Amino acid sequence: MREYRLYKYRIPVDSQLILRNRFLKQREGIIVYVKCGNNEGYGEIAPLPEFSEETLEQAKEQVIDWLSRWDKARQCNQKLSLDGLYPSVAFGLSCALAELKGKLNEEGNYQVAPLCYGDPDELYQVLDNMQGEKVAKIKVGMYEANRDGMIANMLLEAIPDLSLRLDANRSWTPEKARMFAKYVNPEYRSRIQFLEEPCKTREQSRAFAKETGIAIAWDESVREADFKVEAETNLAAIIIKPTLVGSLDYCIDLIQQAHQQGLKAVISSSIESSLGLTQLARIAKQYTPDTIAGLDTLNLMDYQLLRVWQGSTLPLLDLNSEFISEINIE
Ligand SMILES: [Mg+2]
Repeated sequence: MREYRLYKYRIPVDSQLILRNRFLKQREGIIVYVKCGNNEGYGEIAPLPEFSEETLEQAKEQVIDWLSRWDKARQCNQKLSLDGLYPSVAFGLSCALAELKGKLNEEGNYQVAPLCYGDPDELYQVLDNMQGEKVAKIKVGMYEANRDGMIANMLLEAIPDLSLRLDANRSWTPEKARMFAKYVNPEYRSRIQFLEEPCKTREQSRAFAKETGIAIAWDESVREADFKVEAETNLAAIIIKPTLVGSLDYCIDLIQQAHQQGLKAVISSSIESSLGLTQLARIAKQYTPDTIAGLDTLNLMDYQLLRVWQGSTLPLLDLNSEFISEINIE
């Protein structure tokens, strides 16, 4: 017998969190629970405002519809496709089903590239406690490009075994990107693992990489209809944000294509709760074992949800908590 339940969650987040043009005061999403015999699985469906094309309401309607067909399909013994679903719905459902079928290993990769918000002193401390490879991530493009360049240069100079991942979210004109690079000592540039999408267009980003020798990575591009995983000069990685990309199978396919082309695939968060985030850590462990994932977003939230992120002391919410309510499915 197949069973399923849906819950809605609402978790307060750090008041500093700005997504593109808006402050995010709470993170909302849907928890999917599926059960078959003695097996069960959970998944998280959490469209990210400003980034996902679907709203939470649309996702809710779609998942209710899919689950009712899944329930019926059991009787005709057919496998129900996730094709055509919104990315967040496909991802959440596929995780729940993967847990149900025992396809997602328990062990996760909880090593993260700490996000640095521009205060180097804070970063020194975090890096001091970091085991193994020292990688930090800095969001650039929010302030002056020369300031970004100086901070990156200063960190690379001060910490000789540090490598950096930078993310400009397509915010620079070619001139601003050049201004950034001007402040980064050419000797340090190879320690920038990649700079995600420096410019507005892929062409401009390619030209920047060619001119400066700074490796780039595709992130926004991965979600565009014309995108193909293709090795190119100065391209180091593709960033995969499953909530924005789609089902687990589709993400695995992208990872395999990247590896075949000699590119890194970096599993990255879309600010999921600890439920989705720990699943991303497990996916990273299983499919990108040699790469540190981009999952340092849990501390933006005030609580964890159902699952504990290794080492986190944030309070844990269960299904009975005031921030979670069951969705009535009629
Ligand atoms: Mg990015």
